[in-house]
Amino acid sequence: MATLTFHGAAGTVTGSCHLFEAGGAAYLLDCGQFQGGPDLEQRNFAPFGFDPREVRGVLLSHGHFDHCGRIPLLVKQGFQGHVICTPPTRDIARLILLDSAYVQREDFRTEHRRLARAGRRARAPLYGVEDVLEAMDRFDRVVEYHAPVELEGGARVVFTAEDAGHILGSAQVLLEYPGADGRSRRLLYTGDLGENERPLQHAPAPPPAPVDVLVMETTYGDRRHRPLEESVAEFRAAVLETVAAGGTVLVPTFALERSQEILYHLGRMKREGVLAPEVPVFLNSPLAIDLTRLYHRHCRFCRPEVAEGLSVGRSPFAFPGVHFTEAPEESRAIHNVPGPKIVLAGSGMMAGGRIRHHLKHLLWKPSTTLIVVGYQAEGTLGREIVEGARRVEVFGEEVAVEARVLTINGFSAHAGQDALLAFARAARPRHVVLVHGEPSAAETFSRLLRGALPEARVTVAREGETLEV
Ligand SMILES: [Zn+2]
Repeated sequence: MATLTFHGAAGTVTGSCHLFEAGGAAYLLDCGQFQGGPDLEQRNFAPFGFDPREVRGVLLSHGHFDHCGRIPLLVKQGFQGHVICTPPTRDIARLILLDSAYVQREDFRTEHRRLARAGRRARAPLYGVEDVLEAMDRFDRVVEYHAPVELEGGARVVFTAEDAGHILGSAQVLLEYPGADGRSRRLLYTGDLGENERPLQHAPAPPPAPVDVLVMETTYGDRRHRPLEESVAEFRAAVLETVAAGGTVLVPTFALERSQEILYHLGRMKREGVLAPEVPVFLNSPLAIDLTRLYHRHCRFCRPEVAEGLSVGRSPFAFPGVHFTEAPEESRAIHNVPGPKIVLAGSGMMAGGRIRHHLKHLLWKPSTTLIVVGYQAEGTLGREIVEGARRVEVFGEEVAVEARVLTINGFSAHAGQDALLAFARAARPRHVVLVHGEPSAAETFSRLLRGALPEARVTVAREGETLEV
């Protein structure tokens, strides 16, 4: 008998961590952190709910923090198996986890100074840089798409990674294993699924139908995306208007995939002659710069036209006027560059990072356009601004919001409702299990699925619940 137990991303979008057990061996599908506010983040400090020493392997779908962020903790608590993923995912996870360790260390030092004055102690970080480096030693098995590997543990479980089209190197996880009746069974875990028309990534690989169990994400299970071209057109228009008026375009971006996509769109505008070559574009995020380099190293995982360009030195991220600013003094020097200019900086939700320096300098100027291209969680500075705050606090100072604020939602790296439904239909599953969605998204999508696939059993996963698969 095989089972699946949910230890995260059930009833919420973050903290993906599902325990698959078959024939006495246990494997994890992802091991990510909870994100989005103190209540959720508190859960990262709670016990896993299983013994990490007994887990034989982690099948990691992709390098986003909410999918890999608890791996160093798993290793700290005795996990000795292998983390198995694609080559880009291994490299992305290394950068993302190291960055997290640095941020945790800085946060701890600040908190420590603050609490020490009150005679209290700050809580120690979940893990440090040395824990991440030790965890990276467990990433000693890489897999290519469509290349089945038999997992260790003697349970005759075969794992195949298939392209999920979400970010560089992202994979769907296909497991084949003997069922209770001795017949071979197939479980497909989508990880995060991409949309069909992305500039850098392939469309998700079609599911290997029929599958017995389809474990699928439902981030946008209750929403349709508008076509990407409309969002791109809106983005281009806003950039050109601001540049024509000599202003600054500020784009808070997520370091992985979104930064590279925005660079790609700006590069196209330059190559098409729509945007003047001399208008400077700053990628002001060391993490995003490091991640961009991985697109060069792993270009064969991108769309053919992108891969071809990258392999012969025609990078879609290199164009006249682009500056990758790494050193803090280079970052500060951007303030002295007269407009028009375009600045991409993290963090995506404006909760930290270099974007806040730019906001302090530019948010009070009507000549600035702030283009928000990603989800803004409750409680973040970004959410406050997109909800229309007239004044916000940045670095303890009050700043008036006089800039034009534009939210463009079409750049999501997740499949919308239509694409999710088409994928589920194509899989011809006997049982669909919904994870990685807010309750309303998962419920809405489950109703839709029950109508579309009347033969299939549909389950909305609950935290801690075990299903026979
Ligand atoms: Zn993701």
